[in-house]
Amino acid sequence: MTLTSIDRINIAIDGPAGAGKSTVARKVAAALNYVYVDTGAMYRAVALHALRNGIKPSQASELQALVEAIDLKLVPTPEGQKILLHNEDVTELIRSREVTAQVSHYASDEHVRKKLGDMQRLLAKHKGIVMDGRDIGTHVLPDAELKIFLTASVEERALRRYRELTESNYIPLEQLEAEIAARDRLDETRDIAPLIQAEDALLLDSSDMSIDEVVAFIVKLGNTKLMGVSE
Ligand code: C5P
Repeated sequence: MTLTSIDRINIAIDGPAGAGKSTVARKVAAALNYVYVDTGAMYRAVALHALRNGIKPSQASELQALVEAIDLKLVPTPEGQKILLHNEDVTELIRSREVTAQVSHYASDEHVRKKLGDMQRLLAKHKGIVMDGRDIGTHVLPDAELKIFLTASVEERALRRYRELTESNYIPLEQLEAEIAARDRLDETRDIAPLIQAEDALLLDSSDMSIDEVVAFIVKLGNTKLMGVSE
């Protein structure tokens, strides 16, 4: 038996809205000294850009022209990833309710997916990436050494979001739950790269786990992959 070691791996974390993917992915990246890539933020930035330019998800050729000319930059910082749209920091703006409500419609467009998928593959070329999204293990990085499908019940996911709300952005729990379920449905039923667990992904239901427990579990798996044992 020999021990084989590789330097760095890619880790794909997929799952539905509100499962804790971004917090988990950011912490896993920090623990391994990897770079975190939030692909949802990229789709959100495209949606924001299209909304500002009055382009609807159904306007395929206008949307194609918009994504072909888009200037998107991801800037990793210790607090997380910043996203620049034509050099404007839109990290906060892409979290608006309007963008959240519309993003899945834009994300089902083939040109949007092609452009962002190509960018994401390029970012992961040299390994050492923790990428979260919906189709990372299935389409973007099918060769990722570690794939996690992170989920939790829709009630638990809505409750987590609800606890983060303040008086100024209050939304009733039932409404949050309905919005999350609607977004899941759109993501799971689109024709191109729908949200689905990759065959070789590990299913992790975080309903009864803390963020730190999930992070520790993934970091341990990542370290095991780094020190692969072969016959
Ligand atoms: O992860 P987040 O909830 O910010 O993603 C926003 C939306 O972007 C998702 O609901 C989905 O429609 C889209 N998305 C996607 N593929 C990814 C990441 C996000 O379609 N890899």
